[in-house]
Amino acid sequence: MRPALLNPLFAALTTLSGIGPKLAKLYARLLGHEPPRIIDLLFHLPSGAVDRRSRPLLRDVQPGQVVTVAVTVDHHKASPPHRSRAPYRIYGHDESGDISLTYFNARADHLEKILPVGETRYVSGTAEFYDGMLQMVHPERVVDEAGLASLPPIDPVYPLTEGLALGNVRRAVEGALAHLPDVPEWQDAPWLAQEKLPPFSAALRILHRPADPTDILPESAPWRRLAFDELLAGQLALMLTRAHMRRQPGRGSAGEGRLRDKILKALPYSLTPSQQGAVDQIVNDLAQPQRMVRLLQGDVGSGKTVVAMLAAATVIEAGRQAAIMAPTEILARQHFATIMPLAAAAQIRAAILTGRERGAERDEILKRLALGDLDLLVGTHALFQDEVSFKDLALAVVDEQHRFGVHQRLALAQKGDAVDLLVLTATPIPRTLVLTFYGDMDLSELREKPAGRLPIDTRTVDLTRIAEVEEAVGRALQTGQRAYWVCPLVEESEKSDLAAAEARFAELRAKFGDVVAMVHGRMKGAEKDAAMARFASGHAKLLVATTVIEVGVDVPEATVMVIEHAERFGLAQLHQLRGRIGRGSERSTCLLLYKAPLGETAKARLAILRETEDGFRIAEEDLRLRGEGDLLGTRQSGMPGFRLALPEVHRGYLDAARDDAALILQRDPALQSARGEALRHLLYLFEKDEAIRLLQAG
Ligand code: ADP
Ligand code: MG
Repeated sequence: MRPALLNPLFAALTTLSGIGPKLAKLYARLLGHEPPRIIDLLFHLPSGAVDRRSRPLLRDVQPGQVVTVAVTVDHHKASPPHRSRAPYRIYGHDESGDISLTYFNARADHLEKILPVGETRYVSGTAEFYDGMLQMVHPERVVDEAGLASLPPIDPVYPLTEGLALGNVRRAVEGALAHLPDVPEWQDAPWLAQEKLPPFSAALRILHRPADPTDILPESAPWRRLAFDELLAGQLALMLTRAHMRRQPGRGSAGEGRLRDKILKALPYSLTPSQQGAVDQIVNDLAQPQRMVRLLQGDVGSGKTVVAMLAAATVIEAGRQAAIMAPTEILARQHFATIMPLAAAAQIRAAILTGRERGAERDEILKRLALGDLDLLVGTHALFQDEVSFKDLALAVVDEQHRFGVHQRLALAQKGDAVDLLVLTATPIPRTLVLTFYGDMDLSELREKPAGRLPIDTRTVDLTRIAEVEEAVGRALQTGQRAYWVCPLVEESEKSDLAAAEARFAELRAKFGDVVAMVHGRMKGAEKDAAMARFASGHAKLLVATTVIEVGVDVPEATVMVIEHAERFGLAQLHQLRGRIGRGSERSTCLLLYKAPLGETAKARLAILRETEDGFRIAEEDLRLRGEGDLLGTRQSGMPGFRLALPEVHRGYLDAARDDAALILQRDPALQSARGEALRHLLYLFEKDEAIRLLQAG
């Protein structure tokens, strides 16, 4: 149970005054949690600050500068009646000069109240010159003498979402801070002193009520404190999961390799050295009485599927069952298509189960699975359902780990007795960070690409030349090649995303006819499969897609990849997308269409893609570039799975957090000491509830 002390932080944001259901929707979008909670808002840290400490005389005000000036009000000049578009002006002065305060669409009674003639008020905002006179349009703050005392010297600025005003977020944050309890200290006191870090709650208060603009920088002590907390919580949760997994006894299940040999014979190629190495490690793990918890990391196209299949064959030979789970329907079907001939070669009985298998077909699969008449089940989330029960599940393979959490890994592992776990990921995570995300797993890597792959010719093209690109694609189609056309991410919403993709699809279809197909995330499973199948078989030659094709799709005949608005994609994403081509024996071309002018970071991203196809190198560069902000100048969100820790700033704390977590669990594995109790608060704050459940399960 979560300590009662923390409950106020997990209350819905709508418990704050002034936030109703309408605003809650906007906050849900901004904060990425539904329903948005107090804690989500408190963890939404400022991206900038307005310094209101400058108090010059009017004579000394610099245009464009944020200032707070003392203005004695001389007179009001209302907008003429029936011309409410004209500004409402208020003229005032101090001992050194004059100023006009300008409002549009203002309510006169309100202005007369806040700026009464003959009195002095403190007005804060950005001043400009207009018609030779100093003016301030819509001052942000207008206060009297008493208000001045409580005027924040620095106003935080927050990342926003459309429809949500900065003032509203500031007020909501103030409301949220009132709910912030003082929590027991979970960090080591000497360490805090050495790093000069404030307590947790104090850190949040400083960040949201900065006394100096440097307070809100990620390098500041309060931000570092929170980042370290988050990293420590992450490391503790990983280690607890790992300890739990290891405590579960495993069962050795490996035959002498009869089925593996049959599959290897059926392959039209031989394994690369690192594929062979990974298979050896896995087979060795499977033979041990401990549980396997292994991550297989390999760039797109490095051939993870066949490794997974060989792992499955190993436990099947021992008379047990295996499951392979993919994050999307498309991928599950594709795995199944790849696996079927291999399974057939080794007389492995395999089936697929997704949300689409229903009725009698589904019942039949479930029955055979429970009886042990099926050896291998491929599927999606559907494999988690309660009705899915195996006779003797020995191995769970989970593809594309970042879409599933620890939580789901455990759920699948619970479907059998001492299930071994193999996680596949194509997300090239820099070595320096692997332990942070996968600290609970052993690691196998596929470093080289299968032999015979040709380098991809990657070019950047200005969007204004899209007509030429279409012509070039047309020529490629005529020579029998197949092409992907990836449509841009539109920021505002998924809907407009789709509209843009559909418009492009309609246009290309008008040009090239019905060899053009489309897939996007909103399509029904069957429609998606049908479109993919048409593309895979060559009935369709041009596939217009949103990023649903990003992971795993394998059509070796595809040799052209066009990515529209490449500058809007992240480096890792572009790399994944490009990995869809260059898989066959023909030369491939990737065209990155960008909208000029490009920011420095976007320019660098595209240059790296032109330069290399090495996923690990790209991951390192990505990490480096993130530090420099993205095109829009907003700070990129941090490491996946982290809300506050930023890789480029806080990676220095990673080792410390890992060492600390190891030491803590070594001394107090069940977190029962006083510090252990405090650390449970930390785990709850960062929503590692699952790890705490494991503690209680013992
Ligand atoms: P990923 O690691 O992206 O999941 P896949 O498993 O989909 O990669 O493999 C990509 C392609 O490479 C498939 O068409 C597969 O048949 C092929 N492949 C896998 N291993 C080898 C190999 N050792 N030699 C040649 N081709 C291979
Ligand atoms: Mg794959």
